[in-house]
Amino acid sequence: MKTDPNCIFCKIVAGQIPSQKAHEDDELLVFHDIHPWAPVHVLVIPKAHITSFYDVAPAHEAMLGRMMLLAPKLMRDLGVTNGFRSLINTGKDGMQEVQHLHMHVMGGPRPWLKG
Ligand code: 5GP
Ligand code: ZN
Repeated sequence: MKTDPNCIFCKIVAGQIPSQKAHEDDELLVFHDIHPWAPVHVLVIPKAHITSFYDVAPAHEAMLGRMMLLAPKLMRDLGVTNGFRSLINTGKDGMQEVQHLHMHVMGGPRPWLKG
């Protein structure tokens, strides 16, 4: 599996930086955002280092499908009943701050801090 020793999310996958996990399997990890915008705000990431959504390839098709399928399941499991937002910031103009592919999934009653 590809990892980047300087990547903060690879360090979370490796357990070198603690996180509050919401789901883990062979391929994906979900943890709560450290600065949540909404009452529920999780990040869905592949365990392998992929820099951004711009860098995905046909080999990632099944993994991307699993990321999408996980979002509504997580929201249900975390008690979100009134809708949610899913967001993938990509690259510089997409305002991506952490250079490891991740999907924000946010829900819970408004008002939210942002978003
Ligand atoms: P981006 O702007 O790249 O789409 O989002 C990166 C997200 O990662 C931000 O919402 C930020 O709060 C979150 N984040 C950055 N560092 C950490 C960390 O060490 N732990 C956790 N749980 N979230 C982080
Ligand atoms: Zn990484």
